[in-house]
Amino acid sequence: MEFEDYPVQSLLFITHRPNTVFTHGHGSWIYDSTGKRYFDFIQGWAVNCLGHCDKGMIQALSTQAGKLINPSPAYYNEPMLRLANFLTTHSVFDKVFFTNSGAEANEGAIKLARKWGRTRKNGAFKIITFDHSFHGRTLATMSASGKPGWDTMFAPQVDGFAKAQLNDINSVERLMDDDTVAVMLEPIQGEGGVVPATREFMQDLRKLTQERGVLLIVDEVQTGCARCGVLFAYEMSGITPDIMTLGKGIGGGVPLAAMLCREEFAVFEMGEQGGTYNGNPLMTAVGLEVMTRLSKPEFLENVRSLGAYLSEQLLALSEEFGFAGERGDGLLRALLLGRDIGPHLVERARQLNPDGLLINAARPNLLRFMPALNVTREEIDLALSKLREAIKEL
Ligand SMILES: *Cc1c(COP(=O)(O)O)cnc(C)c1O
Repeated sequence: MEFEDYPVQSLLFITHRPNTVFTHGHGSWIYDSTGKRYFDFIQGWAVNCLGHCDKGMIQALSTQAGKLINPSPAYYNEPMLRLANFLTTHSVFDKVFFTNSGAEANEGAIKLARKWGRTRKNGAFKIITFDHSFHGRTLATMSASGKPGWDTMFAPQVDGFAKAQLNDINSVERLMDDDTVAVMLEPIQGEGGVVPATREFMQDLRKLTQERGVLLIVDEVQTGCARCGVLFAYEMSGITPDIMTLGKGIGGGVPLAAMLCREEFAVFEMGEQGGTYNGNPLMTAVGLEVMTRLSKPEFLENVRSLGAYLSEQLLALSEEFGFAGERGDGLLRALLLGRDIGPHLVERARQLNPDGLLINAARPNLLRFMPALNVTREEIDLALSKLREAIKEL
């Protein structure tokens, strides 16, 4: 079917989309309605960690769909309990609350921190977050985010978020006062352009928050679930956070996210948190299949080795075209272009023939790569040869 035959006018405008309708996908490839295929280096925005339409996920989803889809959040169900237990045994956290999106998980973290501040820290409520951070699109998570322009977009903001600068511990310390209840950050700023918090900064942050009796919240919606070559990115800095949020990869493409905390911070009381779909067995069954596979030592080892390979190849590309290098961890990486040609490259790469390439310019001067975590070296080579083609055409 051609694009013109689809009733696109019924959809509320929120962003410019290309005149393409995607119909199916397999592994690292996605196909549109005209039959054209594209190598997918975006994977549903770092979501499809096992690629498109993974067999094990289809199996988990369809088996669960035939058993029980939603008994209501007021009752226990098997996959919900199994996945929660899997997450607590594979992390430093003791308690899990499931949500449907990363933003909702972060809302939960913000609410939990405020509740803790109210009952254990003399009403402290302020949460220090960072410039260029991204925590979601609800009013509170937009207020927590440090995206330029977001402070006035839907004013007035939710109160109580102060912005510090990433990797500058003094900027955090300056903002701390008696009202401060938590510091919240992404171990690597994803939407901000793949900007890692240094190991030293994470450790300083942990030390400072501990001294002041302030919670440390890591938003691992993008960095968690094996994306960086470890199950959770906080492991790389050798710290123990108090609260963590997960999303994206945890469902391998289905809407699932989670908020985790350590025992001593599990302070919600009856009726303070919930949601109709939270912890439904259909999504948590898929999450269990995904997380079980991601957590295998050989899977993580492979992500690290693929990450090192992608890094090497991006550096070579950078040298070949006089760009500004690359950065990231595991399979969350950015090619630094040194000039604002990102959006043009995204466009050119998609339009390549016979096969297109889907990439993302998180900022105009860089490209972000978030392939399936089970991508192969051959596929990386192929994708980068397509990228090379697009660069040369520019
Ligand atoms: C994507 C993202 C979110 C928001 O997740 P949604 O599922 O889109 O609500 C929050 N934090 C980070 C770090 C993200 O990358």
